[in-house]
Amino acid sequence: MDICEECGFDYEDHPTDVVVDELAALGVAYGRRLATKDSSRERDVLHYHPAPGIWSVLEYACHVRDVLLAQRERLFLALVEDRPSFAPIYRDRRAVLARYEDEDPFRLADEIAMAAGLIAWALAGLDTTAWARRCIYNFPEPAERSVEWLAQHTLHEGVHHLFDIDRILSSAPGRR
Ligand SMILES: [Zn+2]
Repeated sequence: MDICEECGFDYEDHPTDVVVDELAALGVAYGRRLATKDSSRERDVLHYHPAPGIWSVLEYACHVRDVLLAQRERLFLALVEDRPSFAPIYRDRRAVLARYEDEDPFRLADEIAMAAGLIAWALAGLDTTAWARRCIYNFPEPAERSVEWLAQHTLHEGVHHLFDIDRILSSAPGRR
């Protein structure tokens, strides 16, 4: 039932023994799309908005970095508190407050790799009881979830936005 209609991500395909390595690998996947853009034309593509209100590649990538960091904090809350309910990250406000559009793609690639490595490292130490701990996840609507689902959903965010990014890169004007 937990399959994304847009990107095809199936939560059941990513059990605890694989989700950790897949999360860690997001750094390489994002680096390939960000840290290879060294001409000014290629950098322009990272700022391209396919339509009003749709994020650029740079903004999607910054969002993923912040999701990885926020999910790590939520993970620790879920491991300590009983059924914590998580505060929102205010994704659209944050894009402005953290100046996503002004980020340097090479530095951002390093930050995503670090953030992905940090949550993967934290998850790699969990035992069966920890993976089964419960939390209240409020997006898209409040629902009780497990730590395993939290990890799978974090991976889905990373994979889904790679899908968004590749769609933009393949449609952007002036691409190679
Ligand atoms: Zn998806």
